[in-house]
Amino acid sequence: MRNVLLEIFDTLLAAYGPRFWWPADSPFEVCVGAILTQNTNWGNVEKAIANLKREGLLSPEGLRDIPTAQLAECIRPAGYFNVKSARLKDFIAWLFSEQRVGLADMFAGDWQELRVDLLQVRGIGPETCDSILLYAGHKPSFVVDAYTKRLFSRLGLISPKASYDEVRDLFMESLPADVELFNEYHALIVEHCKERCRTRPLCGECVLRFRCEYYRKGSSVTP
Ligand code: SF4
Repeated sequence: MRNVLLEIFDTLLAAYGPRFWWPADSPFEVCVGAILTQNTNWGNVEKAIANLKREGLLSPEGLRDIPTAQLAECIRPAGYFNVKSARLKDFIAWLFSEQRVGLADMFAGDWQELRVDLLQVRGIGPETCDSILLYAGHKPSFVVDAYTKRLFSRLGLISPKASYDEVRDLFMESLPADVELFNEYHALIVEHCKERCRTRPLCGECVLRFRCEYYRKGSSVTP
């Protein structure tokens, strides 16, 4: 499986080139973006983050001190703004609890223990948690999303019904614990699923078609 996953990675990297993820100016901005991007597209997140920057709020202290309703108004472009403002507040409250003094402190200890702790924070599910660990903390925690499940189930490497943990375990157990590899791999999966392996896949020019179960079975909706 290791070689198969690495060959897929190499093929995607050759097709799309490095993606330079995560698009953010700081690890804290990554954390905020990972929470805001739930159930919306990245363009909306960028508008919300731009608002936070303009108001001078994009810091742990800034988000801690602003009233929740005002924060909700600021992140309105990201959608579900009342829910997301509460989630940001929960994350910030957690960040300032237990004598933590910021993100560097948060990432200083055992990251596997941090993952367990982060998953206890309301509104931080596994995808958000692993995005924070990988892209803000530079920890080797593979990120799984709906694109990952779609692509690898079509390739025939996982069940379409596989759970988040089952998919993540496949990557974590098969690949070396390499932050740069995990960073690029997730970004390439997202790019490929936006460009080719869409809900209605564009298989005709897909670089993975000759190893794809979906394509072999003739399920493609494209010529
Ligand atoms: S051949 Fe089609 S289904 Fe298979 S990975 Fe490519 S786009 Fe997706």
